[in-house]
Amino acid sequence: MQKTDVVVIGAGAVGCAIARELSKYCVDVIVVDKNEDVGGDASKSNSAIIHTGYDATPGSLESQLVVAANPMYEQLAKDLDVPFKKVGAILPAMTDEQFEKLPEIKEKAFKNHVYDVEFKTGKELLEMEPNLNPQVKGGLVIPRESIIDPFILVQAYAENAYANGVKFMLNTKVTDIKTENGAIKSVVTTNGEIQTRYVINSAALYCDEIAAMVGKADYKVVARKGEFYILDKNTSCKVDHIVLPIPTKVTKGKLMCPTIHGNMLVGPTAEEQESKIDKSTTYNGLESIATDVRNLVPNVNLKDTITQYSGLRPNRNPEGLHFDMYDDLKGYVNLSGVRSTGLTLSVAMGKYVVQQIIMHGEKLKLKENFIPTRKGIVKFSEQSREEQERLIKENPLYGNVVCRCETITEGEIMDAIHRPLGAKSVDGVKRRVRAGMGRCQGGFCGPKVIEILSRELKVDPKEITKHNQGSNMVVGKTRD
Ligand SMILES: Cc1cc2nc3c(=O)[nH]c(=O)nc-3n(C[C@H](O)[C@H](O)[C@H](O)COP(=O)(O)OP(=O)(O)OC[C@H]3O[C@@H](n4cnc5c(N)ncnc54)[C@H](O)[C@@H]3O)c2cc1C
Repeated sequence: MQKTDVVVIGAGAVGCAIARELSKYCVDVIVVDKNEDVGGDASKSNSAIIHTGYDATPGSLESQLVVAANPMYEQLAKDLDVPFKKVGAILPAMTDEQFEKLPEIKEKAFKNHVYDVEFKTGKELLEMEPNLNPQVKGGLVIPRESIIDPFILVQAYAENAYANGVKFMLNTKVTDIKTENGAIKSVVTTNGEIQTRYVINSAALYCDEIAAMVGKADYKVVARKGEFYILDKNTSCKVDHIVLPIPTKVTKGKLMCPTIHGNMLVGPTAEEQESKIDKSTTYNGLESIATDVRNLVPNVNLKDTITQYSGLRPNRNPEGLHFDMYDDLKGYVNLSGVRSTGLTLSVAMGKYVVQQIIMHGEKLKLKENFIPTRKGIVKFSEQSREEQERLIKENPLYGNVVCRCETITEGEIMDAIHRPLGAKSVDGVKRRVRAGMGRCQGGFCGPKVIEILSRELKVDPKEITKHNQGSNMVVGKTRD
């Protein structure tokens, strides 16, 4: 049986941020995830916005964590080499009724300690964002709302945690947790049992099932689906800011914003569903996005869609973000209700969890040799001509462009595969270097990526999956 100090369940943004924070201390940590790659579930299908917390419930734990997290991103993005941009959000009022709600929203922002929200006139907003509905009556600007690469953020947390000694067990599902004398004893997984003193439940959509293993499931988690369109980088109508509607109680609403790589993101919906695995997009969902977003940006060109996707928010019932440790179950940390702001608050949650563990009496000793930074994969297309020539001279594989839409070279794909916690699937490559994320969505480079994965991992192409087990893409030869 393996032995560790802490098992973190879930390699999404939250689990990996906690693991990275723990890796600053002299403790053994294992992150366990049922998926074949780090990156989580919700963490790879969201709006990729780093929120300020202006619209959180004042005084809530979510408000506390999001407001604390936002200012950390500038430095975090530098340290971990994560694409991040402070583009700012605008919240335009299109009707008199919406206009009258603005002071209330600004007051809420103030109560959440987000003081830099400002009123703007309709004219000022149209100068900032010319594609906005010309009927705009005025609105609010929230300057620190930002965009990030959510895939790279989680990979970066994980790679840095790994560099600092954290172990990862992927393709490994937690099936039970054993306790003894009111304390955690071990975690049972599909790849064996792990003896541990602490379990951190950051299993998001499945955190209720994990909590039930230790008799602490006093809540249920229901999936709340959010569907999106991604538009081509060359779409005819773009925005520079995150254009948000006036929020409702259920959702922040359907928005339009640039992605960190220059596409336009349009969505999401917010529909509860029974299934925790159905991530299909629907006609009704996509139509409702089109109707709502056209109110904000009338010329949004949905014919320029290159793909659609959906993500499942883990909606806790009863609602709210909860952090729990228990007097009658030593070593168990339960996180639940990490729903619509989990990407943002992940960095603060890492610090919060570790501080709480310390405050509950655990003596954690800081490591002397913690490595605070991580270097990402070189983006060939963004280098100067001289640097590109130098890279090709050093490694001729940088001279072979595999993904023509995004100009991704074989050298970058090799790095994605061979770095620690490297890609093992086609989506793993896509989420690390963007091969297959462009206009043709992998129509051209998909087979080449399978070929490279097969060659480098020394397995038959039939073994290569799109993402998790069972998603094999090649079934056999059409001719010898
Ligand atoms: C539509 C949508 C839009 C969003 N927009 C934003 C946004 O703009 N900004 C923002 O900050 N947040 C946003 N969020 C929220 C954010 O994406 C999530 O809160 C965040 O990614 C949560 O990460 P996580 O680690 O808690 O969960 P996840 O990423 O879901 O990770 C949980 C992990 O636990 C693993 N797991 C579960 N059960 C087991 C088990 N039994 N054994 C082993 N592993 C297990 C899963 O495989 C998974 O990898 C959005 C979410 C959605 C769905």
